[in-house]
Amino acid sequence: MPELPEIETIVNDFKPLIGRRLIRKEILRNDMIKIAEYEQDKLNDALIEDIYRRGKFLVFVLGEQLSGQALTIIFHLGMSGRLYWQSEESEFDRHVHFIAWLDNGCYIVYRDPRRFGGIRLVTDREGFFASLGMEPLSPEFDSEYLRSIIDKRRAPIKNLLMDQHLIVGIGNIYADEALFAAGIKPHRPAESLTATEAEHLTKAIKEALLSGIEHRGTTFRDYRDGENKMGENQKHLHVYGRRNQPCVKCGQLLIYKKIGGRGTHYCDNCQA
Ligand SMILES: [Zn+2]
Repeated sequence: MPELPEIETIVNDFKPLIGRRLIRKEILRNDMIKIAEYEQDKLNDALIEDIYRRGKFLVFVLGEQLSGQALTIIFHLGMSGRLYWQSEESEFDRHVHFIAWLDNGCYIVYRDPRRFGGIRLVTDREGFFASLGMEPLSPEFDSEYLRSIIDKRRAPIKNLLMDQHLIVGIGNIYADEALFAAGIKPHRPAESLTATEAEHLTKAIKEALLSGIEHRGTTFRDYRDGENKMGENQKHLHVYGRRNQPCVKCGQLLIYKKIGGRGTHYCDNCQA
């Protein structure tokens, strides 16, 4: 599933499209529209004013105004979604659900074979994002904040890291990587972390995400960047996807176990 670094990479790839207009769109599966706060027709001739990421969502801000609020298209890529743009014509398979042609001849393609993602046509962005937690790469995300959300929580620390109401953008890959870098076992009760561990974990979370962005996201199977190309971060992971391989720090074989229903990788020796 694409996480913060993957979505950030796609958003960065889409930045050149700011200022372009959508001239035509095709929505091939209407059930992929999860919320429609305005008519699809309003997308015709809409100006792309801004493109940004919030959590694991990609937000296109369109110039048309509806009672003072900008229209937005919000994409979520679910498990297997891809959102990319291209300038050359190509064939679309049955997993392509949305195509939008732009005034410079390029077009935007949304493809999602497993269909856990979706499109939201939203006017009330604030309302839509109201329940989301803090952005982990923001300066406000510090060890004090982390301690405040793990305080008196017995759930495994990994589960809390992935709770989008507390912190956004972290999924299975970057949770495993950050916990390894911080030397903390994923199933530790959150409240058992010391102040020093919380500090290490805060730093490790930011570093794991930044490394993911630097290497243009992690591609094991489905993820592609905004130009439909594979990421490189899978070559830089320390634990995720490396079950039964030697730990990069101590050489002991890494453990793979389900924690809170999610496949989890860690080193029994390096993580306390
Ligand atoms: Zn180790």
